[in-house]
Amino acid sequence: MTQLLGKRALVTGASRGIGAGIARALAQQGADVAITYERSAERAAEVVAAIEGFGRRGLAIQADSADAAAVRRSVDQAAEGLGGLDILVNNAGIARMGALEELTLEDLDALLAVNVRAPVLASQAALRHLGAGGRIVTIGSNVGERVPFPGITAYSMSKSALNSFTRGLAREVGPKGITVNLVQPGPIDTDMNPADGALADAVVGFTALGRYGRVEDIAAAVAFLAGPAAGNITGTFLTVDGGFNA
Ligand code: NDP
Repeated sequence: MTQLLGKRALVTGASRGIGAGIARALAQQGADVAITYERSAERAAEVVAAIEGFGRRGLAIQADSADAAAVRRSVDQAAEGLGGLDILVNNAGIARMGALEELTLEDLDALLAVNVRAPVLASQAALRHLGAGGRIVTIGSNVGERVPFPGITAYSMSKSALNSFTRGLAREVGPKGITVNLVQPGPIDTDMNPADGALADAVVGFTALGRYGRVEDIAAAVAFLAGPAAGNITGTFLTVDGGFNA
């Protein structure tokens, strides 16, 4: 499939996990893809090699999403390296679990900087490059809409912020032919939420399908929203959670 042939994408936080899967899927569909990472330079290089394996241009950019200047710079670097930008995927995210009373100021600041401020800043920077047909897809979470157990209050709040951000920005940039959507994963087997982790049994119990999802499930949803078939979809959420929120 080459529905993204000629498109240029930036996926944040794509050295591992869901972001790496998204980067591979976009390249498989024909896009040139830049990725950002915080620490995992070797893993990022492997993702670039996979992108190039599909015959596309790949680019790895070190940029801490908690650093506002680095976020802005990474968008411009991606556009410069790829000769423009058509698709931004705000994927980088962190989790800080535990009772609210025990969360430190550092935890709270990190959650807000990486999960909320970075997608806002990256989208702002990307809008200087995106033209008609442009796409912004952000990765939220099913727990941005439903909080079924304690200990994830601040994380859930950080993901809920992306709901109104998506709706509002879709209204702002719709006239330019740019769409803005949110993909809300449920439990997906990654380093952040391993299917053999301590919480796995409890989490799986909330899903209708009785299992974890795969990185590829989220990548397919993002590739769809980034593609031409989704041109009339904007300001909405695609929840890919195995029925967790049903
Ligand atoms: P992982 O922890 O497995 O991977 C995180 C990725 O983001 C890595 O590539 C990491 O880079 C990068 N990253 C983390 N912090 C930063 C930072 N400060 N600056 C730049 N890059 C950073 O996470 P997942 O793949 O599981 O999660 C991806 C997204 O999906 C997140 O937004 C998460 O909240 C969301 N999500 C995940 C779910 C799940 O069950 N897995 C469920 C719902 C939502 P590096 O390798 O350099 O550290």
